Amino acid sequence: MEYSKLVEVYEQLNKTTKRLEKTHIISEFLKEIGIDDMEYVMLLLEGRVFPNYDAREIGIASRLMLKSLSAATGISIEKIENEWKKEGDLGLVAESIVKTKKQATLHSTKLTTKKVFDNIRKLAELEGEGTVERKIQLIAELLTSSKPIESKYIVKTILGEMRIGVGEGAMRDAIVWAFFGNKIGIKYTKEGNNIEVEDRGVYNKYLDAVQSAYDVTNEFAEVAEAAKLRGLVGLKGISMRIGVPIQVMLALKADTIEEAFETVGKPAAIEFKYDGFRIQGHKEERGNIKLFTRRLEDVTRQFPDVVEFIKKNVKGKSFIIDSEAVGYDKKTEKYLPFQNVSQRIKRKYEIDKMSKDFPVELNVFDIIYYEGKSLINEPFEKRRKLLESIVKQQPKKIVLSKSRIISDKKDVEIFFKEAVDAGNEGLMFKSLKSPYKPGARVGYMVKFKHIMETLDLVVVGAEWGEGKRAKWLSSYTIACIDENGKFLEIGKVSTGLKEKEEEGLSFMEMTKLLKPLIISDKGKEVNVHPKIVIEVGYEEIQNSPSYSSGYALRFPRVVSLRTMDKGPEQASTLGYVKKLYAGQNKS
Ligand code: AMP
Repeated sequence: MEYSKLVEVYEQLNKTTKRLEKTHIISEFLKEIGIDDMEYVMLLLEGRVFPNYDAREIGIASRLMLKSLSAATGISIEKIENEWKKEGDLGLVAESIVKTKKQATLHSTKLTTKKVFDNIRKLAELEGEGTVERKIQLIAELLTSSKPIESKYIVKTILGEMRIGVGEGAMRDAIVWAFFGNKIGIKYTKEGNNIEVEDRGVYNKYLDAVQSAYDVTNEFAEVAEAAKLRGLVGLKGISMRIGVPIQVMLALKADTIEEAFETVGKPAAIEFKYDGFRIQGHKEERGNIKLFTRRLEDVTRQFPDVVEFIKKNVKGKSFIIDSEAVGYDKKTEKYLPFQNVSQRIKRKYEIDKMSKDFPVELNVFDIIYYEGKSLINEPFEKRRKLLESIVKQQPKKIVLSKSRIISDKKDVEIFFKEAVDAGNEGLMFKSLKSPYKPGARVGYMVKFKHIMETLDLVVVGAEWGEGKRAKWLSSYTIACIDENGKFLEIGKVSTGLKEKEEEGLSFMEMTKLLKPLIISDKGKEVNVHPKIVIEVGYEEIQNSPSYSSGYALRFPRVVSLRTMDKGPEQASTLGYVKKLYAGQNKS
C-alpha cells in the first residue's frame, strides 16, 4: 500500500475529535487494507512500529532528527533549528522544508507503508559502530522520497509524537464495523454523529469476540486479519502465545465482607492482597523467561532475580503465571509499600545492585497457560491446585499467595487482621468456579481493603416517603452524642433498608418503631424522641457545616438495628467520630 493512502487517513482523523467519526474513518480504511499490509498499516495507524508490549524503542532524539532533515534536504542544521524554534514542532518543519526542496528537485519515487515501517524498525535494531550515520541515512532515505505531507508524519512517527487520538476502543469498534457491519446492520450518520444497529445483542457479541481476541494478542493486525479472513470462527480461534503478554484480569471492589461474598459466592478463596506490582511471568519452550507489568511493559531486564526464582522454582516447560512482586526490607524482612520498589521498574542501569538493595518476593496467585494449553476456561480452584503442585516455595523469593477457603464472616475478619498485620493492603476474594477473564473487571475477583468502623447513631428525625413509600418514614436524621449527653446531627440516611419485611430490616419496621416517638411535624418532616439506635456504615467521614456535629457521612447506609443492645446514651460519641475522622486522613 502506498504510504500516501495512510497519510490521507491520518489527515482525516486529525480533522475530527469525534470518536464515532474516527471509528467510521478507520473502519472504511480497514476494508481496503490487503492482508499483506495489515501488520504494518495497523501499527502505523496507532503511530507505532512495535506492539505496545515490545520493549524495543525507536530511540531517536530531536537532535538526530535535525541532522537527518539536514542530510535529506541540504539545508543547514542551524536554519532548520531556527524554523523549529518558530514552529515548535519538527513534523511541521519537515513538511515545510521538504516542500521548498521538492519544488527545486521534483523527483520522487512513491513510498510504501512497508518501506516506512521497515526503515523505522531498523532504527531500533542498529547497534555498534557507525550507528548514528546509518540511522541518519535511514531517515534521510525516507524523507528524500516523501511528499511534504508524508514527511510530517514520518517525523512524528519516528519521534513518537503521533497524536491522532485513536484509542483501543475505537480500533476495536472499527474492526467490528468493517468486517461484521453487514451482519449487525450498522448505519453511521456523520451529520447526527450517531450509529444505528439492528440488534444491540448481536453487536455486543461481535464487540466481545474482537475484544477477547485482542486481550490475548494485543495486536489489532492479527485480530483484523482473522476477522477479515475467517469471521467469528477466526476470532474464536485466536489464542494466547507464550512470550506475548495478555491483558490481566482485574478486580471489582467491595466495601463490606457481605458484598464481597455476594459477588464471588460462598465459600470463596480469600487471599492476602499484597501491595506490590503485578508481574505476568512467561516461560517459553526454550526455557526463556519474560516478565511483563500490568500495563504489558516488558520488565525482564529489570528483574533478573525474579527470572531466576521462576526458572528454578516453577516446574514446567512452558507456562504463564500471574503474580504480585512485593518489596521487603533487607534487614527486617518486613513487606514495604509499593513506592519503595517502584523505582526498579524503570531502571536501566545498576540492575544487580538494585535487586540487592530493593529485593522483592514473588507471590504467585494464578496460572493462565501450562504445557502448551490455555487454562483460562478452567475453574480457579483447579488452576490454584496446579500452581500448588508446580511451585516450590521459598520465602523471600517465590511463594504462593496466602490463601484460605472461607465462608464465614468471622473467619474473614480474623484473616483480614492477619493480612494487615503482615503489612498487606487487605484481602482478595476469588470465586472458586470462575474462569480467568483477561482484561475484564468482572466479579471473579474482588478486592476488599477496609473493614470500615460503623457508627451507632440515634434517629432524631425522619421524613415521610413519596410514591409507593408514602406510608413509610423513609429517610432518617441521625445523630451522635457529645460528652454532655447532647445529640448532634451527623446526616441523613435512607439506603440499606428493605422494602419487604421478609428481606431484613424494613421501612415498615422502622416506621412502626418511630411513629409513636413523633414529637412534632413540619410538612413531610418529623422530629422524634431520640430512642432508636441504628448501626450505620459509610464510605468516609467529612467535615460539614450543615450538621450540628460538624461532620457528615459520605454514602451512609443502615447496617442494622441496635435498639436491642444499645440505648441512645450508648451511641457513638462525637469524640469517637473525631478519632475516626483523624485516622482515615492519615493513610
Ligand atoms: P487494585 O490495583 O487496587 O485494583 O487491586 C488489584 C491488584 O491487586 C491486582 O492487579 C494485583 O496487582 C494486586 N494483587 C495483590 N494481591 C493479589 C492477589 N492475591 N490476587 C490478585 N491480585 C492481587
